[in-house]
Amino acid sequence: MTTAEEWIDRITSVRRWKRAGERAPHKPLLMLYALAQLQRTGSSSMTYRDAEGDLIQLLANYGPANRKSSPAYPFHRLQNDGLWTVTADGEVPGESVTKLRASGALGQFDPRLEKDLCDSPALILRVAQSLLELNFPESLHEELCAAVGLDRTGLEISAVKERVLKLKRRDPQFRKIVLVAYEYRCAMCGFDGRMDARSVGIDAAHLRWWAFDGPDTVDNALCLCSFHHKLLDTGVLGITNDHEMTVSAHFIGTGKAAEDLVLNLVGHPLREPQRGQPAPAGEHIHWHVEQVFRGPARVAA
Ligand SMILES: [Zn+2]
Repeated sequence: MTTAEEWIDRITSVRRWKRAGERAPHKPLLMLYALAQLQRTGSSSMTYRDAEGDLIQLLANYGPANRKSSPAYPFHRLQNDGLWTVTADGEVPGESVTKLRASGALGQFDPRLEKDLCDSPALILRVAQSLLELNFPESLHEELCAAVGLDRTGLEISAVKERVLKLKRRDPQFRKIVLVAYEYRCAMCGFDGRMDARSVGIDAAHLRWWAFDGPDTVDNALCLCSFHHKLLDTGVLGITNDHEMTVSAHFIGTGKAAEDLVLNLVGHPLREPQRGQPAPAGEHIHWHVEQVFRGPARVAA
């Protein structure tokens, strides 16, 4: 019998699915999608044909930028991790999109995992949250849950965080040192709001995500307002090696707010950290450009 902790350990071995810092969120996204369906309907069973459209959309929105990938890959390959089964009429479809569609291929969690998840709604939430923590920055968790239709009501996020943190140390001072380095001001727009004695709407953002071995250091960080943080993590905004801001050509906004807050940033320099503090390092900028920023960049007006 597999205990809840053992399932979580096996599923969080998704960390091994990344190669040399390259993002490969295909399997985690399929699992989140299947967990949400199981939570809603009591079964993770889905035909490739029915799931394909949603999975393509999830990969396009949350997969690595600049690389095309098919949902056939995780639908077939997740079987190798002992967490998923695929059955079909007649011939085994493998990774072929045409065969997966034509054979009516049906995927679902391994029966033992499926049963344990059905018996424990809390396990569904803990598995889902572990996948989020280990593959995506926190700024994207809420919209990812909405995208797959997962209801996180009742989840004890702190317990999951504690477990995930054991896998790799995080610097509890990270936020503080980044905010001080940038004097509590957004490096993109200069926002520096406060209420009473505390900053509001100001975050410490990683360039190279923590989930992909990004260190908790000032040279891997930017102090950003919550809005620009979100846009950095979704690949709308990026920075160049010369520390100028870039905006994805895929970003569209026609109103004055979009112009002021986003489009006008193109080609302008970031605010530097205070003297003596390191600016963003080239290797971390490079990772963000390769793995997150949705190129090509807009050309300055
Ligand atoms: Zn800002």
